[in-house]
Amino acid sequence: MSRPVYVSHPAVLEHDTGNHPECAARILAIEARLERSEWHGFERVEAPRAERALLEEVHFPEYVSAVEAFCQRGGGAIDADTIVSSGSWEAALRSAGGAVALVDRLLGGDAGTGFAAGRPPGHHAKAARAMGFCLFNNVALAATRAIRDHGLERVLILDWDVHHGNGTNDLFARRADVFYVSIHQAGLFPNTGEVADHGIGEGTGFTLNLPVPPRSGDDVFCALVEQRAVPLAREYEPELVLISAGFDAHAEDPLADCDVTEEGFARMTAAMRQFCQELGVPLGAVLEGGYALEALARSVDATLVELARGGD
Ligand SMILES: [Zn+2]
Repeated sequence: MSRPVYVSHPAVLEHDTGNHPECAARILAIEARLERSEWHGFERVEAPRAERALLEEVHFPEYVSAVEAFCQRGGGAIDADTIVSSGSWEAALRSAGGAVALVDRLLGGDAGTGFAAGRPPGHHAKAARAMGFCLFNNVALAATRAIRDHGLERVLILDWDVHHGNGTNDLFARRADVFYVSIHQAGLFPNTGEVADHGIGEGTGFTLNLPVPPRSGDDVFCALVEQRAVPLAREYEPELVLISAGFDAHAEDPLADCDVTEEGFARMTAAMRQFCQELGVPLGAVLEGGYALEALARSVDATLVELARGGD
């Protein structure tokens, strides 16, 4: 197995949100930290643009065109939280394209693990609606690539961002080929992800929402990964595992009230890596939130250390 991959593109820095927690400084902080760690041996891969046809498989074509036109007119506020600029279209294509390219590398057999570090993030984006800093649903596009173009039948997405990934949840609610598991702080934006939301129709049982109370820390998050997500995953036998890797459950994060530390993120990554090794399937993490810059950088660094053990 060759080196793990880190997929990114400088264009994601041109998504200018003004004075906003979801800012280019997040990526700069992550990459400055990784530079000091010599990238933990990761191969750096330039994110391509996501293809229009794939975007239109997950999102309504009219929505994709509307986002493009809005950015090209100079941008502004799509909603109260979601700000775009003229650079956001290219950034969104590279952010989504990075998640998709990560899957291509993982399923092409030349990397066992990897990380896609794009922005805007994706897990709140719905089929026809931008939301919560997100334009296109990067992880959903990655899962769709795996199924449509690589012929996979079962993909597991573990979303440990502190917010419920309502976009991903809804896109796959009726499907059994994507198992969506989310750990999130109850009562927080976007106020979805109750336990009773467990899928619809053929998708019943293939969505698992695990809301946690404020002040939940490493023990709570890691126990849910180790004792709920992993056993379920073992039964499901995914052919690919994707992590919607938000780091805003960190104790220092300004947008939520959980108490996870970088050690907790490392431990959750290790649990998923061990599971993937046991099954012989690849593991890719796609950046979502995380707004305390130093804590974000340390947490991504700790995650990459564990992902780098994937090829052992
Ligand atoms: Zn979040």
